Amino acid sequence: MAELAVDVAVVGLGPGGEAVASRLATAGLSVVGIESRLVGGECPYYACVPTKGMIRAADVLAEARRVPEFAGTAQVVPDWGKVAARVRDEITTDWNDQAAVDRLVGAGVQVLRGRARITGPGVLVVGDQVIRASRGIVLNPGTDPAVPPVPGLADTPLWTNREAVSATAVPESLVVIGGGPVGCEFAQVFARFGAEVTLLQSNDRLLPLDEPEASALLAERFAAEGIQVRTGAKITSVRHDGQRFTVELDGADPISAAQVLVAAGRKSDLADLGVGSYGLDESARGVAVDEHMRAADGLWAIGDITGKGAFTHMSMYQAAIAAADILGEEAPGAEYHAVPRVTFTDPEIGSVGLTEAGARAAGINVRVGITQLSSSTRGFLHKAEGLIKLIEDADTGVLVGATSAGPTGGEVLGALVLAVHARVPVDQLRRMIYAYPTFHRAIESALADLRA
Ligand SMILES: Cc1cc2nc3c(=O)[nH]c(=O)nc-3n(C[C@H](O)[C@H](O)[C@H](O)COP(=O)(O)OP(=O)(O)OC[C@H]3O[C@@H](n4cnc5c(N)ncnc54)[C@H](O)[C@@H]3O)c2cc1C
Repeated sequence: MAELAVDVAVVGLGPGGEAVASRLATAGLSVVGIESRLVGGECPYYACVPTKGMIRAADVLAEARRVPEFAGTAQVVPDWGKVAARVRDEITTDWNDQAAVDRLVGAGVQVLRGRARITGPGVLVVGDQVIRASRGIVLNPGTDPAVPPVPGLADTPLWTNREAVSATAVPESLVVIGGGPVGCEFAQVFARFGAEVTLLQSNDRLLPLDEPEASALLAERFAAEGIQVRTGAKITSVRHDGQRFTVELDGADPISAAQVLVAAGRKSDLADLGVGSYGLDESARGVAVDEHMRAADGLWAIGDITGKGAFTHMSMYQAAIAAADILGEEAPGAEYHAVPRVTFTDPEIGSVGLTEAGARAAGINVRVGITQLSSSTRGFLHKAEGLIKLIEDADTGVLVGATSAGPTGGEVLGALVLAVHARVPVDQLRRMIYAYPTFHRAIESALADLRA
């Protein structure tokens, strides 16, 4: 077996893996980055970037459909061909990662294609190559789409996010399994392009990790757009007859659809990675890390696998911390009290920190403020649905959580992330000047509404 000796090996080149490998190599370490699929990971090829490109197109259609309400007449004829072409040609460059590989190589990283398996502390095997990493290993393997154990489902030609972003045509009817961010985003995109969409959610509401007011807002919007949402749904079996899917439900009529899209969470395989070599539990769902991303002596983990929030911004945040630690730099450890998350539906649902229920469960003396965007001037002008909800720790007088839902909910969220992150006193936020008439000015109304 060929041997390669390096300072650091990075397993998986998702957004964080790319960042950490590049940073370490630029700092002068010898680094090998190992990737079994595409350099860049899920985000640029199958997740954040193509889906947001699809959403942009669907939002343009939805705005155009509002022309009669505001401005005259317009004929809107959706053409998925344009979306599919943009995803292929501009966004994923036909699922080709050469530019990302070149970027890493340019930074001094040795890029190796293949699946890495740890065989001992600091030792990896990739195909017929043994790699010895003297300073250590950084794990950034990400996660794969999980298919729930519904009888028959795994044997059907179902879509996960990977097939959905590669779709060259819109199915005439679509069952989306899962009402989290991924399921909701896809449901609205395909519905806006003409699919008859049914969304099956086992929980009692959409976006169950967000505020119930945000879930209700989205459910109303989905109903108005003709998306059938069935909460509390229990799927008993799924089959495909070569043409169509049949989804059997407990206590409801079966649904027949041209396509099923599964957006029901993610999974990882720690045994396949060989983390047992470091004494870690290979049956766990993720790798536990300390505030410097250390999972064991000489082993760091970053990204989805750490369970701190499956977001690209989290992967990159953790990458910077791990790199500083490996380089022996004095740097603050990770803090997770102000993690932002955005579901890019319309209305866009942005949130940061704790929900009201989460804050109460944490024993915080909670004050809540809420306002509807429709009662703000900008909301009235736009005929926009949305809300701002603030969660204050009444004992410390700072916000510990916030939700911003509306046409630009994720952008308005920025101000609230800053407030939660920097623990800006609510009194100070009340003295701030909010430009008129913006969506973010609704924050002022929500602050005025804060009460126990
Ligand atoms: C549909 C969808 C939409 C999303 N939208 C957003 C969004 O808008 N914003 C956002 O912040 N997040 C979004 N996410 C989440 C985001 O994609 C991930 O959080 C992000 O990709 C970071 O993941 P990661 O760094 O852990 O690794 P990944 O991006 O999953 O990359 C890990 C890489 O490691 C490789 N690998 C795994 N095991 C091995 C091995 N043994 N050897 C070699 N290589 C290996 C894999 O092939 C993969 O390329 C979305 C996710 C989905 C599914």
